[in-house]
Amino acid sequence: MLEQVIINSIEFARNSESLHGDVQVKSLDRLRDLLFSDDGALEYALTGRHNEDGKLFLACIIKGVLQLRCQRCLGALAYPVRLDSELELVENDPDLSAENDLADAIKADPNLDVLALVEDEVLLDLPMAPMHAPDACQACENFGQPKTVKQNAFSALAALKTQDSKKI
Ligand SMILES: [Zn+2]
Repeated sequence: MLEQVIINSIEFARNSESLHGDVQVKSLDRLRDLLFSDDGALEYALTGRHNEDGKLFLACIIKGVLQLRCQRCLGALAYPVRLDSELELVENDPDLSAENDLADAIKADPNLDVLALVEDEVLLDLPMAPMHAPDACQACENFGQPKTVKQNAFSALAALKTQDSKKI
């Protein structure tokens, strides 16, 4: 069952409208391909705004937790999504050559697919190579890296104790 939420983004911003909802992660096809598991949902809120110059904006807030795949151990990695972005609506497709200036611009679309926008924003935010912290990663434990660190910490502690006992 395909959910769709379509808004006229131009009217939405002109009238300072807002909307919120949530979307099942499993219904976001491009995103789910990158995940360890497509369980869960993302919450989103869109608010339209316009300034004195007639520029139109969409504020976009997205929250949730995604199960990414750790690139080191291939295990599940809970990744909290907390996005708060403001997108300017522009007449034409944002010019890629001016990417930096218009990084936060989208085409002013009378038929904006809200869930596709939410998915785009989340995809842009995902880390290229998500990984557990070394001390929380299965792969690292197998390779013994944290052990080395722990041993060092213990030997440093032992050295301290030795010093202390010498003082006494
Ligand atoms: Zn890992």
